[in-house]
Amino acid sequence: MKKKVTLIPGDGVGPEIVEACVKVIEASGAEVEWEVREAGEKVMEEYGTPLPSTVLDSIRRNGVALKGPITTPVGSGFRSVNVALRQELDLYVNLRPARSMVGVRSPYQGIDLVVIRENTEDLYSGIERMVDEDTAESVKLITRRASERICRFAFEYARREGRRKVTAVHKANILKYTDGLFLEVARQVAKDYPDIEFEDRIVDNMAMQLVQKPHLYDVLVLPNLYGDIISDLCAGLVGGLGVAPSANIGEEIAVFEPVHGSAPKYTGMNKVNPTAQILSGVLMLRHIGQREEADRIQRAVEKVIAEGKTVTYDLGGDAGTREMAQAIIEAME
Ligand code: NAD
Repeated sequence: MKKKVTLIPGDGVGPEIVEACVKVIEASGAEVEWEVREAGEKVMEEYGTPLPSTVLDSIRRNGVALKGPITTPVGSGFRSVNVALRQELDLYVNLRPARSMVGVRSPYQGIDLVVIRENTEDLYSGIERMVDEDTAESVKLITRRASERICRFAFEYARREGRRKVTAVHKANILKYTDGLFLEVARQVAKDYPDIEFEDRIVDNMAMQLVQKPHLYDVLVLPNLYGDIISDLCAGLVGGLGVAPSANIGEEIAVFEPVHGSAPKYTGMNKVNPTAQILSGVLMLRHIGQREEADRIQRAVEKVIAEGKTVTYDLGGDAGTREMAQAIIEAME
C-alpha cells in the first residue's frame, strides 16, 4: 500500500525544487501518495496565517511531510512558518547529514558526519528581556527530559544506521549547570548502548577539530545553539547549501526539508540546485522504510554530480533545475 505523505511546495524556489524531487521519487518506484498542502506567503490572504490548520492536520494525520523552503514574512507578526511547525508538532530533533560527494567543490573529501541538534530549548526558549536600558538578558534553559530524549535518539539512530560513535558537544567546563546537565545525561544514556563508542568534546575545540580532522567524527549530538552553528560548519565542509538535506523529527511525526531557504531572487528561473530537496526526499524514504528506492536515488544523484555534465550553476554547470532532475532520473538503475 502507498504511504500517504503531506507535500508542502513552499514558496520562492520551493515549488520548482519540490516538483523536481517528486518526479525523481516517483521514478524510483517508491510507494508514496502525496497530499498537497500550501503554506507560506501565498496562503496569507486566504487564511490570515501562513500556517493554516489544514497543513498541521494533514501532517498529524500522515505522520510524515516533505517540505520546500518557505519565506519568512518580514514584519507580519508571524515569526517563521518553519519555527512554528517545529514547535507545534514538537519536532525535537534536527538531523543534518553532511556527506562528501565527488564533484562538489570542497577542500575535503570522504566526510560522512551526522549532526543531531536538540530543537526545542536552550537559548531558543524565547525567555529574554531588557533588565534595564543598558543590560539585556537571555535564559539558557536545559532540561533533563529534552537532553535525555535527544541523546537517546542519537544512540538509537547510530545503532539503526550502523554508525560506530556518538560525540556529545557542550561547554560544561564553564556552564556547569546547564551544559553540565546535558553532559551528565549524555553519559548516562551512553551506558545503555555499549555497542556504540561514546566521547564528549567542548564546543570550541569541536569546531577546530572538525576543520582539522573531520574524519575522526561520526554522529554528533548537541544542544540547540551549538547544533545550529556546528551543523552549518559541517554543511560548509561538504560543499554548502545546495546539497544539504535535513529532517525535523518528533515522537510520531517527521518533516523533511532542505537546509537552504527560498532563494527568492531565483524564483521561477529554473536555476537552483534540486539536490538538497531530493536528498531530503531520500531521508524521508528511509524514514518510511523504503530504503531500496532511497539508495537508488542517492546513487543516481552522486553519479550525476560526479559526472558534472548536467549540474546547476552552483556546481559549476549550466543545467537548470528540471534538466538536472531529469539527468538524475535517467541515471537511476
Ligand atoms: P537562502 O538559503 O534562501 O539563499 C541564500 C543564497 O544561497 C541564495 O541567494 C543562493 O545564492 C544560494 N542558494 C540557496 N539555495 C540554493 C540552491 N538550492 N541552489 C543553488 N543556490 C542556492 O537564504 P536567505 O536568502 O537568507 O533566505 C531566503 C528566505 O528563506 C528567507 O525568508 C528565510 O527566512 C527563508 N528560509 C527558509 C528556510 C526553510 O524554509 N526551512 C530556511 C532558511 C531560510
